[in-house]
Amino acid sequence: MTTNTHFTHLECSMTGETYEDAGLKNLSEAGKPLLARYDLDKAKGALDRDAIAARHGGFWKWRELLPVRDEASIVRLGEIDTPNIALRDTAAWAGAKAPVWAKDEGRLPTGSFKARGLALAVARAKELGAKSLAMPTNGNAGAALAAYASRAGLTSACFCPADTPEVNVREIALQGAKVWRVNGYITDCGKLVGEMKDRFGWFDVSTLKEPYRIEGKKTMGYELAAQMGWKLPGAIFYPTGGGTGLIGMWKAFDEMEKLGWIGPERPKMIAVQAEGCAPIVRAYENGEEHAEFWNGARTKAMGIRVPAAIGDFLILRAVRQSGGFAIAVNEDEIETARRECGRRDGLLLCPEGAATLAAQKKAIAEGRVDADASAVLFNCGSGLKYEMPDQSGSLDKDAPIDYAALAEELERA
Ligand SMILES: *Cc1c(COP(=O)(O)O)cnc(C)c1O
Repeated sequence: MTTNTHFTHLECSMTGETYEDAGLKNLSEAGKPLLARYDLDKAKGALDRDAIAARHGGFWKWRELLPVRDEASIVRLGEIDTPNIALRDTAAWAGAKAPVWAKDEGRLPTGSFKARGLALAVARAKELGAKSLAMPTNGNAGAALAAYASRAGLTSACFCPADTPEVNVREIALQGAKVWRVNGYITDCGKLVGEMKDRFGWFDVSTLKEPYRIEGKKTMGYELAAQMGWKLPGAIFYPTGGGTGLIGMWKAFDEMEKLGWIGPERPKMIAVQAEGCAPIVRAYENGEEHAEFWNGARTKAMGIRVPAAIGDFLILRAVRQSGGFAIAVNEDEIETARRECGRRDGLLLCPEGAATLAAQKKAIAEGRVDADASAVLFNCGSGLKYEMPDQSGSLDKDAPIDYAALAEELERA
């Protein structure tokens, strides 16, 4: 059965060159990301935004605006719409005077929003005849690839930086992928995939090196608009690694305007990076169109430890067109934000998500965003996958309890 998709062709994001044959493809002739295009005029007459929004099935509900053609290619693992959680106390701590929500993507299958992109990439690759998929990953993408590929009956291979959190490396393997640790960065892992893929018959699903992961990530834009009554927030703070989600949402807003679902208003798109790996921030501040490789990348927020992004110019373009900016925060600010959100609002953020909260606080303090503008912070993965500081006390059940000391500890908590 057909998905009734309005997908038509691919287009080079740099030159605009079109590719009518949308078979298994990586980059354009110009070596740049390919973007999926749709017949939006036709879709405009055929689709009812509210009827689609009312469906179940998480991001697959937007199937007419996704590239998968055959219902049978769709791979499901219990996708849901992720909740927008109002941060009350935490927002006040950050200096915000308008509503602030955390969109908690950690609730998706495999515990991160990488599920959105990889579900689409896997479904499309399967539909186009690929048997085996490979990718570099800082952890979360690998878990999503492994799970969706196994579910679809495909094999997969992942290459991780050697210091990728243990839990990620192991969950990747348990969900059926072969995984290797590499003594380098994600960019080094990507090079290895490029060198080996022909020998082993792998299709490379590196982010933005195939056209469909971004289509999965764009559903964040559709979903957010629908959840907010088709009125977008004043600002979106996005933890930016490869930038696929930011570029994807920007694309979704454009598509929705052409569909007549939203007006021309856009949120300020704010790309958040860690001070130890901030190539996009540096390029933004230097007024550059492309970002230079970041040497010696360091941050605990592994999802944004990306020294070079192939879609750099697309990230920078979206940020500038939206009137937003790129901002870096340090490791202490990330850790503090993580702790404050947990104790004030009961929401455990991942370090990347905490970076967006730290960035909001900093941006408000520096007058770069209006405290009266509503904001959505993206918590892109489950906080449970990351190291957590030990703040526990200990008790000896066989000794008399020192109640005065306990009372003091309670006081300090
Ligand atoms: C991958 C990842 C990011 C970065 O996402 P991009 O769209 O590639 O920039 C941020 N946070 C987490 C938790 C991630 O896994």
